[in-house]
Amino acid sequence: MKPFIIGCLILVGCIGTIDLSAKEHPIALAIHGGAGTITPDKMTPEKEKAIRAKLTEALNAGYKILDQGGASLDAVIAAVNILEDSPLFNAGIGAVYTHDGTHELDASIMDGSNLQAGAVAGVKRIKNPINLARLVMDESVHVMLSGHGAEEFAQSNGIELVDNTLFDTPHRLEQLRRAQSKAKKQALLDMPVEYRVGTVGAVALDKKGNLAAATSTGGMTNKRYGRVGDSPIIGAGTYANNQSCAVSATGHGEFFIRYHVAADICARVQYQGLSIQEAGEKVINQVLKNAGATGGVIIVDAMGNVSLPFNTKGMYRGSKTSSSELKVSIYGTD
Ligand code: ASP
Repeated sequence: MKPFIIGCLILVGCIGTIDLSAKEHPIALAIHGGAGTITPDKMTPEKEKAIRAKLTEALNAGYKILDQGGASLDAVIAAVNILEDSPLFNAGIGAVYTHDGTHELDASIMDGSNLQAGAVAGVKRIKNPINLARLVMDESVHVMLSGHGAEEFAQSNGIELVDNTLFDTPHRLEQLRRAQSKAKKQALLDMPVEYRVGTVGAVALDKKGNLAAATSTGGMTNKRYGRVGDSPIIGAGTYANNQSCAVSATGHGEFFIRYHVAADICARVQYQGLSIQEAGEKVINQVLKNAGATGGVIIVDAMGNVSLPFNTKGMYRGSKTSSSELKVSIYGTD
């Protein structure tokens, strides 16, 4: 064979190889640790450092799974578990107190590849509620289990029950005391935003192109009557669909339920052809803002784009993708 032809064949082979690797799916992970009146004057340097470090740890844990070819569902669980185990956030340990001085936890997860979902509401004895939500999705024929029944299901599937006091933290107790002394009436709508900051969530895209979303929370300080927010409600606090995007929300749950925020963002992407930036901006900074609701969302789409819109002063958040470095932020821009 002529050297020229051999050269051409090698070149074609190389281009073929380059083309193949270029087709590998991008990966992306975004997380949040709650939105609210988070400003530098309300933060100590030590607390800020600890929050940034914990968000970084959660991002790295989830991203490692994606990087090694793992599933987006496993990545969001890994990230959320780290935040649930930290007293810095309103989920798992560090969850806010109910009116009665206990903790009632909510969580949900959704698989964008098949629209399977699992959720738990009002659980008191589950250390990592997001793991139970996953179990509900994988091992039951239901989507949402609540309270005692959810715990019975957990136990029968080998999840150890913990004492509710495991979630106690002095700073959340102090928040409850302040909320109770201030509350003139028990309307949750009157609850200042700082009494619920800290819900956690993660959204991810894996190498197979599958999206997933997960959210976990202690809800609102001083909540009563078995109040359940948006976090365990599929379509409100959590949504994932490979056809559009994955969303995890944080904010005033009653509004997020009524405006079915997470599903609305994905619907705008799917049916109106909006980008996740446009859809998130519209829902968070127009629809919700006009309704008087505060909060934010994290969004990732099937191309690995990430958007983190919020209409509060700050939102604990971060992301890492195959085309952008790890970045963690707390305030408006940083
Ligand atoms: N959305 C949560 C709830 O209403 C609270 C929050 O995210 O701040 O329970």
